[in-house]
Amino acid sequence: MARTVDTFKSRIFHDIDFDKPGKQTGYLRVPQSRDGGAWSTIEVPIAVVNGGKGPAVLFTGGVHGDEYEGQIAISRLARRLDPQSVQGKIIMLPAVDLPAALAGRRMCPIDGRDFNRCMPGDARGSFCQMLAHFIDSTIMPQVEVSVDVHSAGNSMEAALCSIMHWVDDAKIIERTQALAENFAAPFNVVFWGVDETATVAAAAERHGALSISTEIGGYGRVRPDAVRIAERGLDNVLKWMGIIEGTPDISQPGGGRTRQMMVRDQRSYLFAPSDGLFEPCFLPEQKIRAGELAGYLHFVEEWERQSQPIEFGIDGTIWMAPGSGRVKKGDVMAVIMQDFAGA
Ligand SMILES: [Zn+2]
Repeated sequence: MARTVDTFKSRIFHDIDFDKPGKQTGYLRVPQSRDGGAWSTIEVPIAVVNGGKGPAVLFTGGVHGDEYEGQIAISRLARRLDPQSVQGKIIMLPAVDLPAALAGRRMCPIDGRDFNRCMPGDARGSFCQMLAHFIDSTIMPQVEVSVDVHSAGNSMEAALCSIMHWVDDAKIIERTQALAENFAAPFNVVFWGVDETATVAAAAERHGALSISTEIGGYGRVRPDAVRIAERGLDNVLKWMGIIEGTPDISQPGGGRTRQMMVRDQRSYLFAPSDGLFEPCFLPEQKIRAGELAGYLHFVEEWERQSQPIEFGIDGTIWMAPGSGRVKKGDVMAVIMQDFAGA
């Protein structure tokens, strides 16, 4: 009989026992042979806190290396959690794409991939693909809830929000909005994504978990209020699920609760009509109207060429603002969110 390689078996090794009671911290060792390191691995930090019978949750940070608040909040939570006060299981990966996190970059410097476009991965693939496959096949099936903490990275700045996908199931939408309201960022954005099937959030949905991500801050820096929102949000989710004791603190500075928003179609995106230097006239969370001036495109290389005024196409509130001055034709210069109104 012909022998075949098991193409589905993960090459990642570790000494975490996901069912063992107590707190375990360790590493997922992803093989990465290189010059001068034939048997090298990249050690991706993982913590599992298991307090016996109860629901299970996955917290991920550093899926993009230039988004820092989740990396801070999740590693701090992992250090702080006491298994004695936990009823259920918390799996934490504070720096999923570790090489990108150490480099402060969105894309993985090992294989050039965006980790959040790699699910469900490939057991025989590149670094990101192997790790994505492990998370998809070994971790995702264990959890009821997944919170993937992002901010907007070097290229954008976001309104402080959680985000979730539109799915054609009213019950799931309602449950996920409730999860987001308990995470309690100022905004929760439902969006109809382009190219979203390969994300961590989409993978969690495929496994039947309630799934939210966040976009808290950006511009490649650590925003103190965003760290606080992430820390309170993760604690809140654990309380809401009954994994730790207490009532979620869902209060908002202006009163009320998390504002439910949506980004429904292409009209929400303000695309650059040509290459240039974009001068925005807005900040995240600012209310804007259709026809209002969004900013100017400048062409500093040509004296004769007038700056081009850019207008907003729809009413709403700024969800994403650009971080980079230089834009290329087709780049997104702003994303506008509107109050949630269903499909
Ligand atoms: Zn991200």
